[in-house]
Amino acid sequence: MAETSARNTKQKQAIYEALCALDHPSASEVYDRVHTEHPTISRGTVFRVLGGFAESGRVRKLQLSDSDDRYDPTLAPHYHARCALCGRVEDVFLPEADGVLGGVRTAGSIDINGYDVEFFGVCKDCRKKGEQT
Ligand SMILES: [Zn+2]
Ligand SMILES: [Zn+2]
Repeated sequence: MAETSARNTKQKQAIYEALCALDHPSASEVYDRVHTEHPTISRGTVFRVLGGFAESGRVRKLQLSDSDDRYDPTLAPHYHARCALCGRVEDVFLPEADGVLGGVRTAGSIDINGYDVEFFGVCKDCRKKGEQT
């Protein structure tokens, strides 16, 4: 029993490290990375552990449009910008927006307790590619 839980802890650690090494990865991307170093960790374990992290608040789960769920270890309030061409996601820190959006407390019968903002654009690499063609 103790051995199982030590292994679980090690697996969780490996999954968390892979998540941090990647940039807003999907669960599949985390699995691909973890699997190369830890071939014994199954896809199901990676998905389950990531779900557990999100539930316990250790990581943020992002539900962006046109994309699988992604995982983000950065817990400080921030937003995301997504490249419409390649899907890359980058952090946007926008402290002044908190005051504006945070001031909205109710909308009709709904008490607002959260919000999501997603910015769209085209990243540097995709802009470069566009210039070449
Ligand atoms: Zn791009
Ligand atoms: Zn982020």
